[in-house]
Amino acid sequence: MDINFDAVYYEPQALNYELGAFLQKKYAALPWLEIKSHNLIPELSGSDNLQFPHLKRHLIVGVRKTHKYVENNKVSDWLVPYTSSGCRAMCLYCYLVCNYNKCAYLRLFVNREQMMDRLLKKSNAASNPQTFEIGSNSDLVLENIVTGNLPWTIERYAREGKGFITFPTKFAMVKPLLGLAHGGKTIFRMSFNPTEIIRRVEIGTSPLDARISALNDMAQAGYRVGLLIAPIILLPGWQQLYAELIEELADKLDEKVKNHGFIEIILMTYSFVQNAINTEAFPHAVQLFDRDLMTGRGRGKYCYRADVRVAAEAFLRQKLTQQLGSMKILYIS
Ligand code: SF4
Repeated sequence: MDINFDAVYYEPQALNYELGAFLQKKYAALPWLEIKSHNLIPELSGSDNLQFPHLKRHLIVGVRKTHKYVENNKVSDWLVPYTSSGCRAMCLYCYLVCNYNKCAYLRLFVNREQMMDRLLKKSNAASNPQTFEIGSNSDLVLENIVTGNLPWTIERYAREGKGFITFPTKFAMVKPLLGLAHGGKTIFRMSFNPTEIIRRVEIGTSPLDARISALNDMAQAGYRVGLLIAPIILLPGWQQLYAELIEELADKLDEKVKNHGFIEIILMTYSFVQNAINTEAFPHAVQLFDRDLMTGRGRGKYCYRADVRVAAEAFLRQKLTQQLGSMKILYIS
């Protein structure tokens, strides 16, 4: 599998890196347009919201300059800026749109050695084993189709790192990861939603069945694994949709996942920016903003009201306890 892009925007210095040269060769048939900075491409950031799907077809290649780790307290201890930000898929709720607005296209950073060296140094300097989230800014399984970065990352971390790296995904292309010497130091997390939501909202991601098989394969390959049911979207009939999803997971997940995996649950937050882009770029798409159930959360963001969240949480806990009782629910947020 490969991804079809229609143009590459690139910082010239990126071509001095091995990965930059590799991409230049791989996508030689595409127009390559020089830019000063991956953060500032006026001809793209100035586009109309309507252009959002078109912008997602571009690939941006640059050098990551900021490497600030942010403390975290969920699955990981640290959020790490890594080899990409943005994504080719178009989930209607993608929080990267809050950060990058319509410029949530896939940006690749070619200075992976520098980022890995920093990660290894930080992991080895810690007195207790730390967990580093390397996939909070993009989807690394999708990125791997373009760069092949994941096998390199997983094996190098296994050899030289302490603690764990982790990343979530909505994609099923895990074959290149199955035979790796991961040393038990990678925690793989697959994200799930009911088929109807994947189809109507998570545009361009892998189907449910393929995600279940990919998670099972990763568990069989000895990886530590978890599943995210995220984001929970309270569309009309949500109870039935999520009850059926949980039943299907209970039915099809490998015993290794059920016996050793964990569960994260995140309810959707949505933003004014996303609503504006979706309304213009996907006029026939399902409406995610629900004024009866949602409330403002500051800075143009909306979340489900506290009483709605409490009811949804109780429902999900009950279903999960019934169907996947051996899996620990790490948090519901
Ligand atoms: S797969 Fe993840 S990163 Fe990509 S659009 Fe969907 S939510 Fe955003």
